[in-house]
Amino acid sequence: MSSIILDGKAVAAQLAAALATETAALKQVNGGRTPILATILVGDDPSSATYVKMKGNACRRIGMDSRTIVLPQATTTEELLEKIDELNAAPDVHGILLQHPVPHQIDERKCFDRIKTEKDVDGVTTTGFGMMAMNEPAFGSATPAGIMRLLRHYDVPIEGKRAVVVGRSPILGKPMALMLSNANATVTLCHSRTIDLEDEVRRADIVVGAVGKPHFIRASWIKEGAVVVDAGYHPGGIGDIEPDGLLGRCKAVTPVPGGVGPMTIATLVAQTLAAAQRAAKTSS
Ligand code: NAP
Repeated sequence: MSSIILDGKAVAAQLAAALATETAALKQVNGGRTPILATILVGDDPSSATYVKMKGNACRRIGMDSRTIVLPQATTTEELLEKIDELNAAPDVHGILLQHPVPHQIDERKCFDRIKTEKDVDGVTTTGFGMMAMNEPAFGSATPAGIMRLLRHYDVPIEGKRAVVVGRSPILGKPMALMLSNANATVTLCHSRTIDLEDEVRRADIVVGAVGKPHFIRASWIKEGAVVVDAGYHPGGIGDIEPDGLLGRCKAVTPVPGGVGPMTIATLVAQTLAAAQRAAKTSS
């Protein structure tokens, strides 16, 4: 079997080109104003700093702006809430991204939920999540929304398929399961208390690895002809799924790197532009 490579890097580049055109058009009707994504980075985690930088660069590449707010490691929940309130009130900011994870003393859920729904371009608020779950218009969490975009780009059949998502974090596994369910897959959501993970994975037509452990899901668990999506990312370009032997045996596979990562960033930028377009309509 020849496997399709789900090339997130190429699809994200195509999307970025379209977004650049749309951004230029929006600026023209919006008095030259540039859409802005505000990113908040709390603490000094080097990977988080890299992700924030990548997101800012992606905005600039399509003609949008980004504003990065860096807060010290010792920031309190109250201080972070104040900063979010400021950005909520800023008319020139269209999207707010609070980089996860925040230092342990901060109530992350409370801070996520303080973001105005219309500026929640990363789908992290309880309201935004609930609306997405109900199939109402809302920005989905950028990584699973990017995965859905990638699957759709390659016309991967989802309806009626048995999908297994490994990992149930609020930003990745859980919304992934709901998005697949909304697309009419039959979904199993696995986690650390799942009794026989290997058996669950073996039955999947679509496997999504979102477990956060390098090569934790073994290639031998995955059935022939399955679609394999690896959302994991670890230093050295290692995913959550062991890649050996997947090519030639699976129907489609995301590479790591170059699969899910670029789609996450492109989706975040697309959702920020959509928020700016909505804001422009509301104010006109
Ligand atoms: P997370 O918050 O640590 O969640 C990990 C999930 O895996 C949890 O639900 C946990 O179950 C489950 N799990 C842990 N051990 C398990 C086991 N032995 N068997 C089955 N399930 C197990 O991680 P995350 O933030 O969702 O990230 C997951 C991965 O995706 C990481 O590699 C991360 O780097 C990557 N990621 C990539 C992008 C991107 O843009 N490419 C974006 C976000 C995350 P419990 O709920 O029971 O604890």
